[in-house]
Amino acid sequence: MNHKEALLKKAKELEVEFIHLQFTDILGVMKNVSITIEQLEKALDNEIMFDGSSIDGFVRIEESDMYLAPDLSTFIVLPWTDSPREARLICNVYKTDGTPFHGCPRNALKKVVKEALDMGYTINIGPECEFFLFHTDEKGEPSLQTHDNAGYFDLAPVDLGGNARKDMTMTLKQMGFEIEASHHEVAPGQHEIDFKYADALVTADRIMTFKMVVRIIAQRHGLHATFMPKPKFGINGSGMHINMSLETMDGKNAFYDDKDKLKLSKVAYHFLAGVLKQAKGFAAVTNPTVNSYKRLIPGYEAPVLIAWSASNRSPLVRIPAKRGNSTRIELRNPDPSANPYLALAAVLKSGIDGIKNEIDPPKPVDSNVYDMDELEMKEKGIEGLPANLYEAVKMLSTNEVVKEALGQHIFKKLTGAALYEWNEYSKDVSQWEINRYLRKY
Ligand code: ADP
Ligand code: MG
Ligand code: MG
Ligand code: MG
Ligand code: MG
Repeated sequence: MNHKEALLKKAKELEVEFIHLQFTDILGVMKNVSITIEQLEKALDNEIMFDGSSIDGFVRIEESDMYLAPDLSTFIVLPWTDSPREARLICNVYKTDGTPFHGCPRNALKKVVKEALDMGYTINIGPECEFFLFHTDEKGEPSLQTHDNAGYFDLAPVDLGGNARKDMTMTLKQMGFEIEASHHEVAPGQHEIDFKYADALVTADRIMTFKMVVRIIAQRHGLHATFMPKPKFGINGSGMHINMSLETMDGKNAFYDDKDKLKLSKVAYHFLAGVLKQAKGFAAVTNPTVNSYKRLIPGYEAPVLIAWSASNRSPLVRIPAKRGNSTRIELRNPDPSANPYLALAAVLKSGIDGIKNEIDPPKPVDSNVYDMDELEMKEKGIEGLPANLYEAVKMLSTNEVVKEALGQHIFKKLTGAALYEWNEYSKDVSQWEINRYLRKY
């Protein structure tokens, strides 16, 4: 029995009635074409078509026919469905001529993964997705009210959020996630659920699945889950730290070297250097919203400066203390509003470029970088991340490495969307301005 027949058999045995064919648009929104079990065989033969022109950033109306090519390894029954039982398959998007569509974010990541593979590495990624749980009002609309006043690792006595989080963890486990930790974060109403690292494509798929599960389960508890990076002024925002390592074909961590002072390999240093070098260029991808930049300010555990450290948590990149198979590089600026496929494609391409060009990283900065003034920064040659989305788009526009990771099509659509967003935002007269100027002038 081949893979296709095995999957058809499994779906029938599990009494699945509906299958959601999922893919992700350029802005990171999950899209869905639902079919009945009778259509599954056709779907597995890549015969399901959809109108690409109705998806943000895909294609114009004249060339709108697109095909979905399901990745059979992503078949999962959705545990919160029972009768009728539903499953999902994550798809790559193909053109009518049967070739991968260059506007499909998953295809973009696959290209970078292949590039690493050709160099002899598989990429391991472990994300740390933070999110807020807010109360909903009588009409079901989300508020900014939280259910608790707990802090980091706190155990609240009657914690609505804690119950929801437990439910999310159980659901994710049923869907094959290995949950390493789940805890209350620093801000009231803020949570983190960590799942075990896996190869880059699997992890990007899981991030999409994770967000879907968190939202659905929150709703079942009468709460609203949000991955908005900075929903409230004055408290921490939500990040999505990306932990990365490369693995050789014989299963060794390519970032580990016993003989080095920090026990890091040459490959690790080059990869790190590549990531730091392109950081300004990929910010528009890892931090794609106007709101993203309100998280990247001093004092709230989010990075501001392009520096690295093996001991301190304030710079852009931290090298966690664990060595051996856990040797990894933690990038701290990405936030969960990012399209995970594109964010990983951009960051990993930067690291790979560092290896290929044997770039060396700057000296580590082991003091708290928040305490550093302009002069000290200048002396040490440390630069800041883009201050806002507009600056970030400008930096991306001149960055050939990140552009290549995205491909021309995605680059154009992504920057177009970001500039539109920036213009809309800039035109708005905010409450802050009213408070500041209405009486004064
Ligand atoms: P932090 O100390 O920053 O809070 P967490 O413990 O919350 O870190 O998350 C660490 C993440 O790193 C997890 O997703 C974990 O699976 C992942 N990780 C561990 N080892 C590796 C590795 N070798 N490569 C990539 N990711 C890894
Ligand atoms: Mg963590
Ligand atoms: Mg931790
Ligand atoms: Mg955290
Ligand atoms: Mg972390």
